Amino acid sequence: MFKAILVEKDDAGYHANLTTCEESALPPGEVLVRVAYSTLNYKDALAITGKSPVVRRFPLVPGVDLAGEVETSAHPAYAPGNGVLLNGCGVGEQHWGGLAQKASVRADWLIPLPQGLSARQSMAIGTAGYTAMLSILALERHGLTPDQGEVLVTGASGGVGGFAVTLLAKLGYRVVASTGRLEQTDYLKALGAAEVIDRQTFSGPGKPLQKERWAAAIDSVGSHTLANVCASTRADGAVATCGLAQGMDFPATVAPFILRGVSLLGINSVTRPAKERIEAWTRLARELDSTKLDTMTHEIGLAEAIPAADELLAGRIRGRLVVDVNR
Ligand code: NDP
Repeated sequence: MFKAILVEKDDAGYHANLTTCEESALPPGEVLVRVAYSTLNYKDALAITGKSPVVRRFPLVPGVDLAGEVETSAHPAYAPGNGVLLNGCGVGEQHWGGLAQKASVRADWLIPLPQGLSARQSMAIGTAGYTAMLSILALERHGLTPDQGEVLVTGASGGVGGFAVTLLAKLGYRVVASTGRLEQTDYLKALGAAEVIDRQTFSGPGKPLQKERWAAAIDSVGSHTLANVCASTRADGAVATCGLAQGMDFPATVAPFILRGVSLLGINSVTRPAKERIEAWTRLARELDSTKLDTMTHEIGLAEAIPAADELLAGRIRGRLVVDVNR
C-alpha cells in the first residue's frame, strides 16, 4: 500500500484527494520508484484543481516531477537503490505521476540523479528550474553572452522566473526582474536581480515596436506581456517563451521579427530527449547556488499539496514548493 493524491472525475464531479492505493493499482512500467520528493508546479496545480484540462485520463496521480530510489527494475539501465529523477514525459498528465510514495514508469523517462544534487534539491528545482535552464540553453545556442546587454525575466517571483533570475545572474548577466509583487524586491535582488520593475509595464496592449532595451528575455507569462517584451527586444535579440501565466494568447505583430530580426524561441520541457535533459540537469547541478535554492524553497507534505494548488494559481506562492511525499 502507498499514499497518493488521486484525481478522479465521476458523478461527484472533478476532485483530488489524498488516498491509499494498492501497489497492484499502479500502471505497468519497467521501473518501480520509491518516491522521496515531488514538487508542485503550475501544471500540477491545474491538474489538482481541474482549472485546465491537464489530466488526460482518470483516475490519475498528478505530479510531473519525481525523485527517489529504484525499488525494482526490469531494465538493465537501472538497478535497485539507484537515485533517479523524472521530469515531464507525460507523467502527471497521461501516466501516474510523482505526488505519491510509489511510481511505475518507463526507464527512458528517467535520468540518474545528477551528481551533487540530493533528491530534495532536485525537486526544489523541478520542472520550473529545468525549464529556466532549457530557456538559458536556447538563448546560449542563439549566441547570447553577458556583454550583449540586459536580460529581462518576467513572472520573476514565480518558479521558472526565480530560477531564471538566479541562474542568469550567476552566469554574469545583468538581470532585470519583472513582477506584480514589488514587495518581493528584496527577495529578487537576493536572487541576483540588478533591477526590479513592475509587470504593469508589459501587461496591457502596447505599440508594435518600442524602445529597444533587452538583449534577451525569458518569459513565463505570455499574452500582452510577451508581445511587449518582443517589441522592446533589441535588434537580433531573442526571447525564450515558456509560459502562459497571463494568458495563452499572443496579441503581437510581426514587426519585431521582420524589422529587428528578433527571434522567438519556444521552450517545451515535456518531451526533451534524454541527452538534453542530462545536459540541462548537469548545468543546474553546476550553476545553482544551494543557499539561493534554499531561499526559494518551501517544503510541504503530500496532503498539503491539495490546498496549495489554489494558492499557487492565485499567484500567492513565492518560489518553489517541494513536496515530501512521505509526510
Ligand atoms: P508560478 O505560478 O510559480 O509563477 C508564475 C508567475 O507569473 C507568478 O508568480 C507571477 O509572477 C506571474 N503571473 C501570474 N499571473 C500573472 C498575470 N495575470 N499577469 C502577469 N504575470 C502573472 O508558475 P511557474 O513558474 O511554475 O510556471 C510559469 C508558467 O510557465 C506557467 O504558465 C507554466 O504553465 C509554464 N511552464 C511551462 C513549461 C514548459 O515546458 N514550457 C514548464 C514549466 C512551466 P509575479 O508575481 O512575479 O508577477
